[in-house]
Amino acid sequence: MQRALVWFRRDLRVRDNPALAAAAAAAGQVLPVYILDEATGAAGRWWLHHSLRALRESLARRGLPLTLRRGRPAEILRELAAEHRIEATFWNRVREPAWARADAAAERALADRCDVHSFPDDTLTDPAAIATGQGAPYRVFTAYWRRCRELLETSPPEVGGLPRRAAPVPGAASERLDDWRLLPRAPDWAARFGEHGTPGEDAARARWAAFIRGGAAGYADGRDVFAAGAGSGLSAPLHFGELSPRAVWRDALRARDAGAGDARDLGRFLDQLGWREFCRYLLHHFPATASAPFRERFAAFPWRRDDAAFARWRLGRTGYPLVDAGMRELRATGFMHNRARMVCASFLSKHLLLHWRLGADWFMDVLVDADLANNTAGWQWAAGCGADAAPYFRIFSPAAQAAKFDPRGAYIRRWVPELAALPDRCLAAPGAAPAAVLEAAGVVLGKTYPPPMVEHAAARQRALAAYRSLAPGAGGRAAHSL
Ligand code: FAD
Repeated sequence: MQRALVWFRRDLRVRDNPALAAAAAAAGQVLPVYILDEATGAAGRWWLHHSLRALRESLARRGLPLTLRRGRPAEILRELAAEHRIEATFWNRVREPAWARADAAAERALADRCDVHSFPDDTLTDPAAIATGQGAPYRVFTAYWRRCRELLETSPPEVGGLPRRAAPVPGAASERLDDWRLLPRAPDWAARFGEHGTPGEDAARARWAAFIRGGAAGYADGRDVFAAGAGSGLSAPLHFGELSPRAVWRDALRARDAGAGDARDLGRFLDQLGWREFCRYLLHHFPATASAPFRERFAAFPWRRDDAAFARWRLGRTGYPLVDAGMRELRATGFMHNRARMVCASFLSKHLLLHWRLGADWFMDVLVDADLANNTAGWQWAAGCGADAAPYFRIFSPAAQAAKFDPRGAYIRRWVPELAALPDRCLAAPGAAPAAVLEAAGVVLGKTYPPPMVEHAAARQRALAAYRSLAPGAGGRAAHSL
């Protein structure tokens, strides 16, 4: 074949890229294209800009200019196919409802123009091929993941290398990345986004190599500790496809089999990849859960409307230092620690009784790793309405979570500096600190730091009452213990 087009999507890498490898193997000339049309949130656009720049440079080093276009993918692909006499178009699929619709539209648009080859890429297993003994989709993580692990141990997914070198299709005009204005200007609220990670395939590989070389050291105990920084930092790279989940899985199994590090650390890490897989599986089998609760009875939940409370939560001004630390970390860096996400999401949906979708939409806009599958499942888990969710009566106490996972207050001091001079024991609940201690630390509640916007015990009772108002079974298995 003379000419092939590769449509880059959430696979912003050249290694282990099935579509790119297949196109380069099949055709003498390759046209790599990225089309901006999907609704990426504001923080995600920052990551996307830098990741695209890295991809463009990486392809250019291999002699392939990346063509950038904006608009409806189906129309643009058809146009490019006609203009450049493309014989086949290759892409990697993304298992999200909107992306699957875009796939179908592209296939229709290209049907009479060229061949189409698309590849599964963003999961380790095929969600359609995994079912319970009764042929139904799994709804519980443990059973689902046990089944996946059997498959992944016996037939691990294949990992490809660098594609064969191909010549470019000449004369393809590209838009300018800077013209897309994916980066914020005045004010540049993303100035500190690089603190949590550098976008691009090479940076992702370097980060991953450092993490796995040490056998994920300290991960099992450290991942819950707010200030430990024990996470892999792979969420944005995996979301944008700078690394393939297959390569991550293979490397982690190799490290385990070579006896690198502590088996507990690697085991716990592999389980997190399992959660990522499960979130995609759920979205595949239950696409309505992108906006509706997995537990349908929660559709009738008596959520409150309170714009002022929602604004305080977003700004990190709730008066709960751990919640405020998480929300401010998010604003500053585009990232939030996993346990802080759990606590902040629980606070919004249970302490404040605001709809989980408000919080989920906010996260989708301000997280650099915003990912529909992981975010939806994370929010529904925290709100108690998801598959395998936290039971409704599990209402995190932000102060108790801080005492357990931020005992020296390093995380709170970093993100809520106006409380930094408080002694460790008073940091998580300054409202309960003696007046003299507050004064000595320069904290004036209501002036330098807000008092708690709701009282924990009262908010807990209110949340429990709201959950009880739902029909029996709303809390799933947990409801039986009412
Ligand atoms: P690690 O601990 O190193 O884990 C490795 C990888 O496993 C992660 O990169 C991620 O891809 C996956 N993973 C880890 N935890 C989870 C989980 N609970 N669910 C699904 N996959 C997981 N993750 C996102 O990628 N995008 C989101 O938009 C997102 N929103 C969330 C919202 C809420 C309310 C909650 C509770 C969790 C959310 N998560 C989301 C999951 C998790 O918080 C992040 O994946 C994790 O903090 C990223 O840090 P890491 O890469 O160091 O993870």
